[in-house]
Amino acid sequence: MSYTRIDMQVTTKLQEIRNTWIDRVSRRLARGEQVRTSLDDQLNYFYDMLIQVLVTGDPAWLHAVLDKWADDRTQTEIRKYDSSIAPILEKMFNVTYETIKEELNETDSLNLIGALLPIYSSLISYIVMKEAELHIEHEALELENARIKMENLDKSKSDFISVAAHELKTPLTLIQGYASMLRDKISDDKNDSSGLLYLNGMEKGISRLHEIINDLIDVSLIDNDILEFNIQPFRVKQLLEYSRNELIRVVQERSQSFEVLDFNGSEEITYGDPERLCQAIRNILTNAIKFTPDGGRITIGGRKLPGYVEITISDTGIGIDEADHVQIFEKFGRLGNTQLHSSSKTKFKGGGPGLGLPITKGLIEAHGGTIWVESEGYDEINLPGSTFHILLPILKEPPDYKFAKLWGSTIEVDIQSNNQK
Ligand code: ADP
Repeated sequence: MSYTRIDMQVTTKLQEIRNTWIDRVSRRLARGEQVRTSLDDQLNYFYDMLIQVLVTGDPAWLHAVLDKWADDRTQTEIRKYDSSIAPILEKMFNVTYETIKEELNETDSLNLIGALLPIYSSLISYIVMKEAELHIEHEALELENARIKMENLDKSKSDFISVAAHELKTPLTLIQGYASMLRDKISDDKNDSSGLLYLNGMEKGISRLHEIINDLIDVSLIDNDILEFNIQPFRVKQLLEYSRNELIRVVQERSQSFEVLDFNGSEEITYGDPERLCQAIRNILTNAIKFTPDGGRITIGGRKLPGYVEITISDTGIGIDEADHVQIFEKFGRLGNTQLHSSSKTKFKGGGPGLGLPITKGLIEAHGGTIWVESEGYDEINLPGSTFHILLPILKEPPDYKFAKLWGSTIEVDIQSNNQK
């Protein structure tokens, strides 16, 4: 915006009231004598620029002054959005108005106020915009700092998990070694049946601890993006049937039914790490068993989509609240009361550390796939059930030759023998 150039008389009148104006504004804005001296310099400069704007009709002369005032504000002032420069400009205009009225005759007053009013109002709009921009910039910076802090925190958490898991593994292997020696010793002693009972309990605990530590290590491998895969061709159906066979005994213990349906797409061959994919499916199935009451039903099905195969794992269990559909895939995202933590892997509603689904998500995504859940909600009486969907790409060749394992002429891979390695 520019203003029409003003005649000399208006400029002369503005010069006439200069000293009174500076003295008054200075008193109104600053209390201490020292502050006032440095303020006087700035006001003099402002006044010079105001005259320039009147003479040239170009507001940019004053924008530069306002920019400097706005930039000189401290971060604390910027944070408190209300301490803005606009009220200062308003005070300055009030003083201008008072001074003009007192010092000039009516005609000169009207002329000068008429010339200054649009300048002041445009300056106020300018500074409000400028300060809003600064405020947004400041908020963006704060957000970025918070993001960096969170990232560092997440990194330390992930480092801690990795170090703790590796440190725990060494003594656990030692305990496992001694337990196995003890088993040899006790097995020789036919009279010691209670010893065997204690030892079985101990070994069960050791194996559960191993599983948890391995989960912690997997979480840190996924977090740091350093998972390594043993890429091979495999048939989707084989993967699902192997997963079923692994868990069929537990399903029977819980009197649940378990069915793997034939579907268009189950005969597809694709590339991936069958052992890791089995681990992913096992995690979902273990949850399906855990969160479905005795006598419930678990079904694996799916369909073929362009370039993908979709695998669905449904249960007739307690379901998941819609608000938790994302959280369950987050690290330690187990729902409910952690105080009621039971560490049974398959008991109804048995708790776990909340690492199964994040690992599953990490493994599926590392294979170029996606995972999500559908459930009408959490209801232990009406049992709406849950359906987990896995989308896996159908690859005609290994995704990365560097990691691809050399395989023989046969394309069928024995998943079971892979798992036993
Ligand atoms: P964990 O099983 O160790 O608690 P997961 O990451 O495997 O951890 O699962 C996170 C949470 O998601 C579970 O604690 C449970 O609340 C919920 N959940 C997962 N699968 C199901 C399911 N099939 N039915 C109901 N809730 C489920």
